[in-house]
Order: sequence, then C-alpha cells, then structure tokens
Amino acid sequence: MPVNYETTPDFAGRRARLAAAIGALGADVLVISDLVNLRYLTGFTGSNGSALVRTDGPDLIATDGRYRAQVAAQAPGLDVLIERDTVTALVALLADHQGELPLRVGFEADAVTVAQFAGLSVLLDRAGLELVPLRGTVEKLREVKDDGEIAQIEAACRLGDKALATLIERDGIVAGRTEREVARDLEWIMYGCGADAIAFETIVAAGANSAIPHHRPTDAVLASGDFVKIDFGAVVGGYHSDMTRTFVLDQASDWQRAIYQIVADAQHAGRMALLPGAALADVDAAARDVITAAGYGEQYVHGLGHGVGLAIHEAPGIGAAATGTLRDGATVTVEPGIYLPGRGGVRIEDTLVVTDSGARSLTTSPRALQVL
Ligand code: ZN
Ligand code: ZN
Repeated sequence: MPVNYETTPDFAGRRARLAAAIGALGADVLVISDLVNLRYLTGFTGSNGSALVRTDGPDLIATDGRYRAQVAAQAPGLDVLIERDTVTALVALLADHQGELPLRVGFEADAVTVAQFAGLSVLLDRAGLELVPLRGTVEKLREVKDDGEIAQIEAACRLGDKALATLIERDGIVAGRTEREVARDLEWIMYGCGADAIAFETIVAAGANSAIPHHRPTDAVLASGDFVKIDFGAVVGGYHSDMTRTFVLDQASDWQRAIYQIVADAQHAGRMALLPGAALADVDAAARDVITAAGYGEQYVHGLGHGVGLAIHEAPGIGAAATGTLRDGATVTVEPGIYLPGRGGVRIEDTLVVTDSGARSLTTSPRALQVL
C-alpha cells in the first residue's frame, strides 16, 4: 500500500541525521529492527523487516519475499536483501564484509528479543564484531516533527474532531445506550471520515466507570446525570491523533461542575507551559499544581502527557519524574484528570504542536463542559 504523504518525506535526510547520532554514540552501524523506526527511516510499512544505517556506506533494508514489490515501491533508494530472519541476515552480511577494524554494531536494545540476542551474540563473537546496545536513538529524532508530519497529525486530529461532532449531532451519546455501542459508533464514523485505522482501543466510560483512567467499554448503560469520558484517536498516513472529552448527560450536578472546572484550569495551565526548552517536569507541574491546590492531587494518578506521531505513545513523556526539555516541533498531549472512585472522573486531552510562539492545539473540539 502506498504511504499517504502529501509530499515524500526526506528519508535519506533522516538516515543521515541518525548516522551522525550513532557515530557520536560509538557505533559504526545501527541495525534498525523496530518497525515504527523502520518506517520513519525508510517509508517501508511491512510487518517484517529491518535495516542497516551506516556512518560510512550505503544503507540497506531487509524483508521477506511477501514484501518484495512493496519494499521496492516504498523504499526505492535502498538496496534490498530478501530473507525471513532479517536481523540475522544483516548481521551475517556485516560479518562477511567487515574491513580491518572491528566494526561496532549498534542494536536497538528495546527491540531485540532474548531469543534473537542469543543467536546474534554467537554471530558477532565469531566475526569479532563489537555489540553496542543503543536506546531511544531514533525515538529522539522522531520527537521533532517536520512540516509533513505535523500536517498528517493535524489531519488525524481534524478527523477525530469531525467524528466526535458527528456522533453528538446524531444523538449518539445519550442515556440508554451502552458504552460499547457509543465506542463502536464513533469508530465507524472515523472510518467513514477516511481514517486508515483507529489510533487505539476507544475508551468510553460512563458514570462510576469514568473514574477508571483506561476503562474498556462494556455493556454498561449510560444514565442521566452520568459523566461520559471518551478518549479516542484516528490514524491518517501512519500518524495518530489523541483526544479526550468528558460530557455530562442531561444535567450536571455541582460536584461535577466543580471538578470539571479544576481539570479545565489545569489543562489550560499545561497547554500554556508548552514552550521550547521548558523542562518536562515543569510542564507537568504547571498543570498538577492546579489540581493539587484544589485538593485533588491524590486523585490525579498519571502523567500530564506524551508525544504523538507514528506511535500513539512516544517520546517525550511529560510527567513529574521526566528529565529533559521540550523541543520545538514536538507534538504532545496535555491530559490531566481527576478520578473519584465509585463516583466518576474527568479528563480533558488535546494533541498540540510546540512552536516558539507557544503551543498550537491540533485537536479543536470545544473544551467547556458540554451537557448532552
Ligand atoms: Zn487519549
Ligand atoms: Zn494520550
């Protein structure tokens, strides 16, 4: 299937940036075996593949025979190796062709299994190759999105906004329906609007279930006066959107309005704190302090947000223990919540892009409390 980009991404440029990064980390070559990273660096979207990115030579991609035509179409500039066990095949190739100096072979430590590692160690030892485990190297590059990527994420966010508005227009979120029915309707509308896929299993949580941050939709029936929390996203051209809105059915009570307003204020503070160079922990604190000051710090049980892109959860993670800073061009969520067990909960989440003039929200559904 062709990748749905408006303009072709600069895959060679991405690989050149990666080559410079791995050189600085003490490796001559990096074996890419994470499929999302493989897609980012080559455009190839098959379910089996890996690639070699080298500091000093042509890059190479490997996949099996099912993808012979697809890899030629999606990664036209790369030499292709057709083998079932792609990682072993690439390492065997390095072992055969190394020069005088022992080659330092980087691996994605988070993407190699113990079973693969055992076989690779034997191969590396025999050929005198040095193993360099690397973590998060490609993910670090992926943090900063180019214009084409931002356009894809924005398209996914727009689609999500439109799907939710359509569901509301059709009286899809009303008392008497089940969580499962609402979730399936929303997903069906997203597909109807042109989504390639849903970004993750849609969360529809009504009443007391809304106090469970990652509730899976059940046959529970929505009732008048319930909070209904909906967390969902679409995939367009490989890129994800992520948004949460919390509604009240028919009539909101005072406690519901009160906690909703606190979460809305915290979310606003979090969005305002998204500036290039800001410490990730400070961004988390900007929102968390609002909730803590209101007395609900213990009922806010997760981090503020995460990067969104080719993966639904990617770097940077924005939480109290996060290290590092926010980068210009990062696309991240801001999603504080308050969860009162047995009663109900509120989360408000947007996907935003960080720019030097502040953050621009790519999700634009109304944030004020909507009583449906
Ligand atoms: Zn979400
Ligand atoms: Zn999220």
